[in-house]
Amino acid sequence: MTAPGGLRRLDGPVRTATSVSAFDYILSRSLPLVPKPIVRRVSRRYIAGDTLSEAVQAVRELNAKGFMATLDVLGESVTDRPLVETAVGEYEGALRAIGAARLDSNLSVKPTQFGLRLDFDLCLTKLRRLVHLARDAANFVRLDMEDSSCTSPTLDLYRRLRAEGLGNLGVVLQAYMRRSLNDVRDLPEAANVRLCKGIYIEPPEIAYRDGALVNKNFLALLEALFERGFYVGIATHDEELVWEAYRLIERRRLSPSAYEFQMLLGVAESLRARIRRDGHRLRVYVPFGAHWYAYSLRRLKENPRLAGYVLSSLFAGRR
Ligand SMILES: Cc1cc2nc3c(=O)[nH]c(=O)nc-3n(C[C@H](O)[C@H](O)[C@H](O)COP(=O)(O)OP(=O)(O)OC[C@H]3O[C@@H](n4cnc5c(N)ncnc54)[C@H](O)[C@@H]3O)c2cc1C
Repeated sequence: MTAPGGLRRLDGPVRTATSVSAFDYILSRSLPLVPKPIVRRVSRRYIAGDTLSEAVQAVRELNAKGFMATLDVLGESVTDRPLVETAVGEYEGALRAIGAARLDSNLSVKPTQFGLRLDFDLCLTKLRRLVHLARDAANFVRLDMEDSSCTSPTLDLYRRLRAEGLGNLGVVLQAYMRRSLNDVRDLPEAANVRLCKGIYIEPPEIAYRDGALVNKNFLALLEALFERGFYVGIATHDEELVWEAYRLIERRRLSPSAYEFQMLLGVAESLRARIRRDGHRLRVYVPFGAHWYAYSLRRLKENPRLAGYVLSSLFAGRR
C-alpha cells in the first residue's frame, strides 16, 4: 500500500489549535513519530479487529442494541493490481458473511482501495461487480470520499454506476469542500448521500478551514440534500450539528425512514445512544482488517483527549 508521489497524504482533520488543548494539538501533529504498537493500543476502540469474524461479532452486538452498521475493510491508496484483487475478495467475503449471519449492515468502500489511483476503468469494473453482488443480496454499497484528488473521479464512478441502473449505491459529500453545494446539484435523482465534515488536509483555495464555517456549510448542504428529496446519512458526532439536524427534520416533517444518523465505531457512544432513544435510525461505521494504521492516525488526530490516551497507554505499557 503506497501513496503515489504528487498526491497529498491523507493526514488530518479540520481542526485548529483553538479547538483542542495546545498539547493535544502538538501531539496530533507528531503522531507519525509515536511507535506503531502504541498507536495500535490507543486506537483499538476505533477498530473491530483484524479479522472478519471479529467484525461480524461487533456488528452483531451493535444490531442487538438497535444500531445498523456499515462494514469497512481497512485499506486505501492501493497501487498494485493483485492488492486490488485482494481487497475486492475481502469485500465479497464481508458481503457473504453479512448474509450468512443475517446482519443489518451494508458496505463502505474507499475507491482507491479498488485501484482508483491506478486505473479508473479497473476501479469501475471492480466496483460494478461488487455493487451487482450487493444488489443480488439486497444490500448496499457506499463509496467513501477520500482526499480532493479523488472527489471528481469518485463522483464520476457514482454517476456512471447509477446511470447503469444500480440504485443500491451511495456516495459521500464533505462539508469542508467549497464545491460540495454545486456537487449536490449535479447528483442524479434519488441519490443516497452521506454528509460529513471531511477529514483530509486540503488547501484553503478549495476547502473551508474554519470550523464554524464548515458547520454552516454542513447545514446548508443538509438542507440542499433534503430539498432534492435525497436519502441522507448525517455523519457527525458534533452535538450542535445533531441538534440542528433534529430541527431541520422536524421542520420538514421527515419520516425516520428518509434519513439516518451515522457515527464511527468507538466515538461519542453516549450521544449515539441518545439519538437512537430519540427514535432516529443510526448506523455505526465498523472498520476491520490488517491495514489499520492510516485510519487509526486519522481517528487519533480527531480525539480531543488524545494526549491523555497516549500517556495512559504509555504507563499501562510499563506495568
Ligand atoms: C459514519 C462516518 C463516515 C465518515 N466517512 C467519511 C468519508 O467518507 N470521508 C471523510 O473525509 N470523512 C469521513 N468521516 C469523518 C468526518 O469527516 C469527520 O472527520 C469526523 O466525523 C469528525 O467530525 P465530526 O462531525 O464528528 O465533528 P468534530 O468536531 O470533529 O467532533 C465532534 C465531537 O466528537 C468527538 N470526536 C470526534 N472524533 C473523535 C475521535 N476520533 N475520538 C474521540 N472523540 C471524537 C469529540 O467529542 C468532538 O468534540 C466520516 C465520519 C463518520 C461519522
